[in-house]
Amino acid sequence: MPNLFLEKLKENPLLFDGAMGTMLMKAGQGSLKTPILLNLDDPDLVTDIHRQYYSAGADVVITNTFGGSPLKLTADGLEQQLVDLNRKAVKLTRQACPDGKFVAGDIGPSGKMIQPLGDVAPEEMQENYFSQARVLIDSGVDLIIIETMYSLEEALTAVQGVRKAGDILLLASMTYSKTKNGFYTVMGEDISQCVSALEGAGADMMGANCTLNSTDTIDLTRELRAATDKPLLIQPNAGKPVTTKGMTYYEQSPAEFAADAKKICEAGADMIGGCCGTTPEFIKAVKEELARGWLFDITRNQA
Ligand SMILES: [Zn+2]
Repeated sequence: MPNLFLEKLKENPLLFDGAMGTMLMKAGQGSLKTPILLNLDDPDLVTDIHRQYYSAGADVVITNTFGGSPLKLTADGLEQQLVDLNRKAVKLTRQACPDGKFVAGDIGPSGKMIQPLGDVAPEEMQENYFSQARVLIDSGVDLIIIETMYSLEEALTAVQGVRKAGDILLLASMTYSKTKNGFYTVMGEDISQCVSALEGAGADMMGANCTLNSTDTIDLTRELRAATDKPLLIQPNAGKPVTTKGMTYYEQSPAEFAADAKKICEAGADMIGGCCGTTPEFIKAVKEELARGWLFDITRNQA
């Protein structure tokens, strides 16, 4: 049976949502250490944010499960609630999801490091991601996105863990920083190294998110596109956060972000969304920008 998500991807670039944290901050939940708890404590707020993103034009919304792997939950004293928190998160996103749109199960970093830099054995790290993915898949997500990974080694254990958990469309998104020698992860891995290793481990789609603003991400996209034929998701930040008088805002405007988003898609991204600082206004602006004369090479993903 053809995968509906991959079928849609052949037609147009797919639009992902923007930040959850930024929206929670706006709702007065900014200081919350464990946003994942809101799935149980304030489900209406979470569903409402998801709904706002679908209404803004997002084709795909990501579940509120960034901190939902066992190692992260244990650090937050929530280890008993692995199943409840992840299952509820999928349910809330699905409630908001219109027919024909998609729910992506979100997996973020564990907050721990693999031996010898840290104290977690590689098998334990893989098990960490297997356990979260198992719940997300059982709860009915359309795809899984592993994101904001700044260590390739950890990202690889995540891909392996998800692959063990079940047959699901899997996207792996690394976080790159811009240096004078090019784009690298914090751990020093370059783009081609990341992409080939993640593909080798079984990721179906590639991505980059966080840290860089939309303008710096245009070049990053070009380099990623040259390194892989897989579908590519790009989710920049809305610039850097600036705090004045206790208020935090991000440097970039929705219009500036959207103009860059179009260039990012022209540079080869098949999917575009927003990371830190982006809101439904950003996603709406991107949607409108992409709708204005789209030059998408529809033959590229038909191979
Ligand atoms: Zn971010």
